[in-house]
Amino acid sequence: MIPVKGYAAQNPKAPLAPFKFERRELKPHDVLIDIIYCGVCHSDIHMARDEWGGAIYPLVPGHEIVGKVNRIGSSVKKFKVGDLAAVGVLVDSCRECSSCKQGLEQYCEVHWVPTYSGYEMDNKTITYGGYSNQIVTDENYVLQVPNNLDRKGIAPLLCAGITTYSPLRHWRVGKGHKIGVVGLGGLGHMAVKFAASFDAEVTVLSTSNSKQADAKRLGAAHFINTTDEAQLKKAKGQFDFLLNTIAAHHDINSLVALLKLNGTMIMVGIPPEDPSLSVSGLIGKRRTIAGSMIGGIRETQEMLNYCAEKNIVSDVEVIAMKDINMAYERMIKGDVRYRFVIDMATL
Ligand code: NAP
Ligand code: ZN
Ligand code: ZN
Repeated sequence: MIPVKGYAAQNPKAPLAPFKFERRELKPHDVLIDIIYCGVCHSDIHMARDEWGGAIYPLVPGHEIVGKVNRIGSSVKKFKVGDLAAVGVLVDSCRECSSCKQGLEQYCEVHWVPTYSGYEMDNKTITYGGYSNQIVTDENYVLQVPNNLDRKGIAPLLCAGITTYSPLRHWRVGKGHKIGVVGLGGLGHMAVKFAASFDAEVTVLSTSNSKQADAKRLGAAHFINTTDEAQLKKAKGQFDFLLNTIAAHHDINSLVALLKLNGTMIMVGIPPEDPSLSVSGLIGKRRTIAGSMIGGIRETQEMLNYCAEKNIVSDVEVIAMKDINMAYERMIKGDVRYRFVIDMATL
C-alpha cells in the first residue's frame, strides 16, 4: 500500500481536517499521480455535508485533479513517468454495458466508480478524492493534459468544464441560439466560455450584480439580475436554452417562463431539495426540462483538446489546503471568482 495524506470530513458536521490513509499498490494498468492542483466543486460541499444522502466517511473530496505521473504499472501504455495527467469525477465503470461501450461511462448501467465517497468495482474499497498528495487510477480513466495550458486553470475543466461542455455539445448549442447560463459560479463561468466559443448568444442570469462586468469579459452579451422582477418579466419567452447551474433551492418556474416555444432548460446544478415544477409552464410552449451529468472519458479528452486549441481554462483563485473550510463558506455565498483551486504543495 502507498501511504498518503489528505484532508477529510469525518462526519456531515465536521470541518475538513488532516487525514492519513493509503492508496492501493499499482496494478498493471495503474498510474500513480503526484497531485499538483485540485479544484473545489460545489459537489464537494454537498457530499462532505451529506446533503444528498449516501456519503461515506471519512470523506476525502476532490474530483478536479491535475498532476504529474510519478510511477506506472507494468502494462501502462498511455503515460510515462513525468507526464502531466488528470483525473475527473469517475475512476472506473463496468466497461461492458451499452453506455460504457459508447464512451458514456457516467451513465454506466451496472456501476460507475466516483473518484470519492464511492466503492471500487469490488464493492468494498472506499474511494478517496483529490484533496490529497497522490492518487492511483487506472490509465483508462486518466486524461492526457495538453502542455500549453495554465496548469491551475486546467484542474476545474475535469468537472466544471466537462459538465458544461457535454450538454452544450449534446444539444448542439451554437450559432443562432440564445442561451441563458443561470448562476455564475464554477460551472456557470465555464458554460459562458464554451457557449460563447460555440458562437451562441449568451446571457448570464445571476443573483449577484457585482458579476456583471465579469459576465461580459467571459463572453456573455447580456446580463440579467434574477432578483429583479422587472428584468425577468422583460426576458420572458426569449431563450432557446437555459443551462441551470444553481446549487441551492430556487424557483425554477420563473426560469421556465424565460424559454421560447420548444425551448429547453438543461439542469446541471443539483440542489439538495428538489424544485417543484408547474407543468402548465411547460405545456403552454411545448418546453422541455432536461438533465445532464458530467461527461464520459472520451468526451472529457475531446474537451481538454478543444481547450488547448482555443486556449480555454478556468478563472481560478488558488488557496492553501488549510483554507478549504473558508472557501466552502464563500462558495455557499456565491462569492467565488470563479473556482477555488487547492495548491497541493501547501498540504
Ligand atoms: P458554485 O461555484 O458554488 O456556483 C453556483 C452558483 O449558483 C453561485 O455562484 C450563484 O451564482 C448561484 N447560486 C447559489 N445559490 C443560489 C441561490 N440560493 N439562488 C440562486 N442562485 C444561487 O457551484 P458549482 O461548483 O458551479 O456547482 C453548481 C451545482 O452543480 C452544484 O449543485 C453541484 O453539485 C452541481 N454539479 C453537477 C454536476 C453534474 O454532473 N450535473 C457536476 C458538477 C457539479 P450567482 O452569484 O451568479 O447567482
Ligand atoms: Zn464536480
Ligand atoms: Zn457500464
